[in-house]
Amino acid sequence: MASSVSYVSTSGSGGSFSFARALQLGLSPDGGLFFPDHIPQLPKSDSEKLKGASSAETGKVLLWPWLKDNLSREDFDAIISDALNFDAPLKQLGEDTFILELFHGPTLAFKDFAARTMGRLMAAMLRRKGEMLHVLTATSGDTGAAVADGFYGVEGITVWVLYPSGKVSPLQEKQFTTLGGNIRALEVDGTFDDCQRLVKQAFVDDELRAERNLTSANSINIGRLLPQMVYYSLAVSQLREKGFDVDGAQAPVFVVPSGNFGNITAGLFASRMGIPAGHFVAACNQNQTFYDYIQSKKYKPRPSVRTMSNAMDVGDPSNFARIEYLYERDPELVSRSISAFRTDDTVTAETIRSVYKKHGYIMDPHTAVGFDAWKQFKSTRKTSLTGPGVVLATAHPAKFGDVMPEEIAGAIEQPEALRRLSGREKKADFIAPEYPVFRAALLK
Ligand SMILES: *Cc1c(COP(=O)(O)O)cnc(C)c1O
Repeated sequence: MASSVSYVSTSGSGGSFSFARALQLGLSPDGGLFFPDHIPQLPKSDSEKLKGASSAETGKVLLWPWLKDNLSREDFDAIISDALNFDAPLKQLGEDTFILELFHGPTLAFKDFAARTMGRLMAAMLRRKGEMLHVLTATSGDTGAAVADGFYGVEGITVWVLYPSGKVSPLQEKQFTTLGGNIRALEVDGTFDDCQRLVKQAFVDDELRAERNLTSANSINIGRLLPQMVYYSLAVSQLREKGFDVDGAQAPVFVVPSGNFGNITAGLFASRMGIPAGHFVAACNQNQTFYDYIQSKKYKPRPSVRTMSNAMDVGDPSNFARIEYLYERDPELVSRSISAFRTDDTVTAETIRSVYKKHGYIMDPHTAVGFDAWKQFKSTRKTSLTGPGVVLATAHPAKFGDVMPEEIAGAIEQPEALRRLSGREKKADFIAPEYPVFRAALLK
């Protein structure tokens, strides 16, 4: 039997951590990100099981080798069945272009895959007897929605969502302030950075930690990364069903709209496990730090700029450290597996229009950045990479009606999950951006 996976830090100060410990800590004590000491390989017999498998069935095959020493098979199966209870249909737009719809979960974005799984894993692994586990999360929008929903109703957990007042979209705000129950929203009279600072301060407050079992649900947690491997396999399985030979030169090119690069990192992990992937394309908006890195081989973070694909407005992608680590800090190796393109707002809006006109398909701005990157990749690609493109559709267009071209926004069908929200009442505590105020709220 293969040895169990443990976690080291990308900053390399030594030490090895169990999955549960990495899940609890989020960030390694030396400030690095947790990284697996090896990536389990899928046995051939497992590849067979993935054909035609549902999200949950796929999750059980892919995630078990990572978690088998942490949970009983029974608990694991129950968690995955409960978390991954929606699918990821693959839609074809033209001969060699596919859209992998990752927005059929409760908050209509791909983050549901990870948040729902992580919430249940935390409940199973981190609860101390008779004590509540408090999950702190600072959000500028989408993460709060996915985490709140992912942990909603999970027994033994209270979630605190801190968000900057007036700086998240009304729809996003509804998604995490109207659930109630074990989800507590704190509307901070400040910026997203204030929210993050408050959360960080709580983690270094030993007195508070003695009284409260704390953990965080930020995007760098390894528990959020691993479940995202699942849909790469779902794409491959659906291509096989459509008669594509995905195993050789025809392996798919995955095009990933990227912000913090967690999504694409999960794809790289899936590929190392043995899921066929010919190449990866990182699709960036005007926040082009990674694009510049691929061109110049130098990493230079910069301040983020606001775009219509705002979940990708990141100037210093947190998972870059994992990508560098995976490729032994060799930019040449990175660029052999990953290409990068950038798309500005004008072209994003044009892409939404032209795709709608040509295919009658409405894509959200993040997906449109991906679609344009695929177009750019095709016109420049090397002949050895001939597989079809799978563009990851990271969110449902109805979530971004306010920034979509007007004539198309009106044509978007409102999903039930959004219609339900409109009648719900917001419940949030308004707090000053000061640590003692936040601390008091946590202890109340
Ligand atoms: C979070 C998010 C992204 C970016 O994903 P990363 O893993 O941070 O690269 C892209 N699109 C949408 C809709 C998102 O919510």
